[in-house]
Amino acid sequence: MTHQASSHATSPQSTKQHLIVVGGGTSGWLAAAAFGKLLGKAFDVSLIESESIGRIGVGEATIPPLRTFHRLLGINEAEMMRDIQATFKLGIEFSNWGDIGDRYIHSFGVNGKGCWACDFQHFWVAGLQKGIAHDPIGSYCRELIAAQEGRATGGEQSGFNYAFHLDAGLYAGFLKRFSQRHGVKHIEGTITDVHLHPQSGAIDSLTLQGGRNISGDIFIDCSGFSARLIQGALNTQLEPYGHYLPCDSAVAIQTENVGAPRPYTQSIAHAFGWQWRIPLQHRSGNGMVYCSRFVSDDEALHTLMNNLEGKAITEPRAFKYTTGRRQKAWVKNCIAVGLAAGFLEPLESTSIHLAMSAILRLLKLLPLKDMPAACVDEFNQQTKVEFERVRNFIILHYHATKREDSDFWRYCKNMEIPAELSHRIQLFKETGTIPLQEKELFQTDSWTQVMIGQHIIPERYHPIVEAMGDDELGRFLNGLKQHVRGEVDKIPLHQDFINQYCKSP
Ligand SMILES: Cc1cc2nc3c(=O)[nH]c(=O)nc-3n(C[C@H](O)[C@H](O)[C@H](O)COP(=O)(O)OP(=O)(O)OC[C@H]3O[C@@H](n4cnc5c(N)ncnc54)[C@H](O)[C@@H]3O)c2cc1C
Repeated sequence: MTHQASSHATSPQSTKQHLIVVGGGTSGWLAAAAFGKLLGKAFDVSLIESESIGRIGVGEATIPPLRTFHRLLGINEAEMMRDIQATFKLGIEFSNWGDIGDRYIHSFGVNGKGCWACDFQHFWVAGLQKGIAHDPIGSYCRELIAAQEGRATGGEQSGFNYAFHLDAGLYAGFLKRFSQRHGVKHIEGTITDVHLHPQSGAIDSLTLQGGRNISGDIFIDCSGFSARLIQGALNTQLEPYGHYLPCDSAVAIQTENVGAPRPYTQSIAHAFGWQWRIPLQHRSGNGMVYCSRFVSDDEALHTLMNNLEGKAITEPRAFKYTTGRRQKAWVKNCIAVGLAAGFLEPLESTSIHLAMSAILRLLKLLPLKDMPAACVDEFNQQTKVEFERVRNFIILHYHATKREDSDFWRYCKNMEIPAELSHRIQLFKETGTIPLQEKELFQTDSWTQVMIGQHIIPERYHPIVEAMGDDELGRFLNGLKQHVRGEVDKIPLHQDFINQYCKSP
C-alpha cells in the first residue's frame, strides 16, 4: 500500500509530544479532555474517530469518583447535567438477587457510625442479636433512605455522595466540545493500517481510509471492543473472566419516562441474567444482560420487552462481549483505555470509572517521554489489581445467592470464585469484618450493604461493642436512625431538585 506524506497534525517546529487518542467514545473524549485541559502545554493532542464505526452508545450509569474528575477539569456540574439530560444517582437497587422477591439498595452513603476498632455493622449485628433493634442496615444510611423515598440533592455544599445517570451520546458530545475548547484536534476517519517501528516495535503512525498518514509519539487506544491498536496491531490479548462472570450478551433499548426519575439505577435479576433501568431527564435507558449458554437471544429480548415500564422509542440493540482484562494495558507507546482495556459487565456501573481511573493513573505516571519500563510495569500492575478487585465485587452479587431456580443461578451459586473473594466472604460471615486493602474502590459500606443484601449476615460482632450496655446500644442505634431521618427530611424530591439545579441561567 502507498501512503501519502505523513502529517504530524502539529506544527513542525513544535517540541511538544504528539499524543493521539484513537476513538471518540466516552473513554476517548475523557482522555482527550484530561490531556487537553491539564497537559496541553506539554502535549499536542489529537483524537481520531470514525463516524462510520460509531460509538457503543450505552454506558449511562456512573459512580461518584467521576465528580472528582469533573472537578479536576473544572467542569460546571449544573451546566453539564442540563446539557446531557443527567439525573442524580444515589445507588443501585438490586431486586431478586439474593433470592426471588428480595430487594436491597447498594447506596453511595455511609452506614451509621463505627469506632476505631470496628465498623458500624458490628453495632448493627449486636443490636439484632440482642433483640434491641430490628431495622435493616439501610435505615442508618442517609443516601439509601433518600433514594428509597425518591429524594436527591447535589452540589458541593450538599455533602451527599452521588453520581449521575447520563445520556452517553450527549456526554461524549459535551466532552468533545470541552476538549476542542482546550486545543484538542479532532480528526474524522477510519484507521485502516497501523505502522510499527521496525526496530522498537512501537507504533509509528496510522493510516486512515483514503490514505492520510498520521504519526505520533504516544497512542491512547480508546477504540472500544475492537482494540484496534493494542490488540489489532500489538497483539495483546484479553485475560478472560467468563468463568466467574458468565454473562456474555446484552440488548439495550430506550423508553419514554414513566413518572419522576428514580434517584437510583435498578438492577432486576431474571432466571438467566439481569435487567437495568436508568432514568434520565428526557428518557430512560433499559437493557438486559444475559448468558447465552442459558437463554436464547429471542427469549432474553422478549423478557426485556415484557418488563419495560414506558413505551419503547428506539429499536433494540444487541451486543456480544467477552468479559476480561487486557493482559497488559500499556505496551510500547500504546495505552489502552476503556473497552479496549477490558470489560467488566455493567452491574456496578464501573466501566466509565475504570477508563477515568486509567487516565488519572497515566497522568500521575508521567513523564512519558522515553517510556521508562518501571512506569509501564507500575501502570500495568495497578490496572490489574484494580480490575481484579472490581471483578471480585461483581462476582459477589452472582455467587452469594439463595437462588437455585435455574441452571444459570445454580451455576453462579456453585461456581469456583477467586480465593481472595472467598476469604472475604468467610471473614465477613464469621466476624463481620471486611479486610480492605489500600485504595480499594468499593469501601466497607459497599461490601457490607451488598453482603447483607445477599444474605451474608455476620455470626459475631467485635467485643468492643460490649463496652456499651444494652440501653446505650439501643440509644446509639436509635439516635443514628433519627439523625438519618432528620437529614433526609431536609432533602427535596429528586425531580424538584433537578428542576431547580438544572434550570437555565
Ligand atoms: C450493554 C452495556 C452496558 C453498559 N453500561 C454501562 C454503565 O451503565 N456504566 C458504565 O460505566 N459503563 C457501561 N458500559 C460500558 C460503557 O459503554 C463504555 O465503558 C463506554 O461507553 C466507553 O466506551 P469506549 O469509549 O471505550 O468505546 P466506544 O464507545 O465503543 O468508542 C470506540 C471509538 O473508537 C472508534 N473506532 C473504533 N475503531 C476505529 C478505527 N478503526 N478507526 C477510527 N476510529 C475507530 C469508534 O468510532 C468510537 O468512536 C456498558 C457496556 C455495555 C456493552
